[in-house]
Amino acid sequence: MALTGQNFIGSHRSGNGSKTFQGINPETESKLKPDYVEATSDEVDQAVQKAEEAFNDYRQKSTVNRAEFLEAIADEIMELGDALIKRASEETGLTEGRLTGERGRTFNQLRLFADVVREGSWVDARIDRSDEAPDVRSMKMALGPVAIFGASNFPLAFSVAGGDTASALAAGCPIVVKAHPAHPGTCEMVAGAILKAVEKTGMPEGTFSMVQGISHEVGTALVEHPLIKAVGFTGSFKGGKALYDAATSRPEPIPVYAEMGSTNPIFLLPGALREKGDEVAEGLTNSVNLGVGQFCTNPGLVAYEESDEARAFHQAVADHFKKAGTGTMLTSGIQSAYKEGLETLLQQEGVQLVASGSEDGSPNTGVPHLLKVDSKNFLANDGLEEEVFGPSTLTISAEGKADLIDIAENLQGHLTATLYGTEEDLETYSDLVTVLQRKVGRLIFNGFPTGVEVNHAMIHGGPYPATTDSRTTSVGTSAIDRFARPVCFQDFPESQLPDELKDENPLDIWRLENGEHTK
Ligand code: NAP
Repeated sequence: MALTGQNFIGSHRSGNGSKTFQGINPETESKLKPDYVEATSDEVDQAVQKAEEAFNDYRQKSTVNRAEFLEAIADEIMELGDALIKRASEETGLTEGRLTGERGRTFNQLRLFADVVREGSWVDARIDRSDEAPDVRSMKMALGPVAIFGASNFPLAFSVAGGDTASALAAGCPIVVKAHPAHPGTCEMVAGAILKAVEKTGMPEGTFSMVQGISHEVGTALVEHPLIKAVGFTGSFKGGKALYDAATSRPEPIPVYAEMGSTNPIFLLPGALREKGDEVAEGLTNSVNLGVGQFCTNPGLVAYEESDEARAFHQAVADHFKKAGTGTMLTSGIQSAYKEGLETLLQQEGVQLVASGSEDGSPNTGVPHLLKVDSKNFLANDGLEEEVFGPSTLTISAEGKADLIDIAENLQGHLTATLYGTEEDLETYSDLVTVLQRKVGRLIFNGFPTGVEVNHAMIHGGPYPATTDSRTTSVGTSAIDRFARPVCFQDFPESQLPDELKDENPLDIWRLENGEHTK
């Protein structure tokens, strides 16, 4: 597919702006062709207007049509073949192997949402019939045009055709994507695939648009557009919070589902240190350094009670970190933020550098760093909990169980928390588990937080500041709920009800009828 550098306004290409930028190969720092034209405010407006025009038609497409559309997107992405993987690798420095895996995840995610739409029960249809009271029926319906922002670290699975796109389109919402400026060519290729799927499956023009931009004006204009009804965002705390503030200060505030950074604390309980300290030390090193540490689920805090076993564990982690390899980070901006984050951490009272890998001299490398602090200094300094995006982790030594629980109680919201231990430990530390349930969206026992399965039960979310709405998830099929709202029909004639609420249940979906789950 030949790249044009233009924006996708419905089915039309447009590049009226004067500001341009290019993708950059972080391994060589060379600029990649073509020039990308930042969308003008007029182009942003046209994209949103087209989404609004498409909305009624798109949301009323049959569930089968919508499912086929999602499957066609998945197929068209595969049709892009090796060229997509090559371009994504050039723009991000991620290996072709990693990107092939991510494409598989993207493909499966789209197909899983197609299954959800085809099955149909996600609308949570409820029917209350009574002779004495009004006939009341409700179901979830699409919100309207949605703005979507992807992150740089998942150029496929959390980008143009990522989880937010799959869930918003599944719910019946047209979308306008703000392309990520760190991988504009990858974005253009995937956008082309989505447009082909729009045409092949007869979806209305405007169901999908994508605007490019390297200035924040483009994303802000999108979020502030009065016809946008929700925002899906994956990225940094700074970006997510800025867009949340813009969305909530509109004359009509709208929901923002921002999945942001997280430090994903690990609690190492005594049984784990006693029985498998070496295994955990190796696993932790691998998890911290996976993908050069550029995962929102990267374990950035490791708390444990001081003991001989803990000291041996710490020494083992330090030995692994000294040998851990470096890799290219996604952008020079992310690399300098990583270096600055480490410098700031190391200036804090009580924080010590324990071990680090070595620079290999190539541009934009992320060097592994292991830091430590004691619980007293950790508890006195909120800044130590902030995400340093890259391959580093901070260990925290506690003086006993009460101290460990104090650490947990003082945590802000995170995406995950992990407990390493024996089943006996879990019983002894049940109060720690209770505290952590209030802090995160996913609790892991004897595993590492990196790696988020896409399925029906997954929760990838958590209390603020991990997200701007702790009630939802951005990964897994319940993500669809973010882009719908319940609508109730009272005393409507059968012929005028949506199929989901008709007496004979023509879609054969699960419904709650007079309080009973039934088909
Ligand atoms: P980012 O810099 O926040 O960028 C994400 C998107 O938001 C980009 O399109 C960016 O466009 C836009 N944006 C950022 N700030 C903005 C602002 N003030 N106004 C308007 N638009 C704005 O994030 P990133 O560096 O790509 O991704 C890394 C971060 O994402 C890490 O913190 C990581 O933990 C997090 N992440 C979270 C999850 C999750 O599910 N929770 C998953 C993956 C990554 P511009 O570049 O044009 O600003």
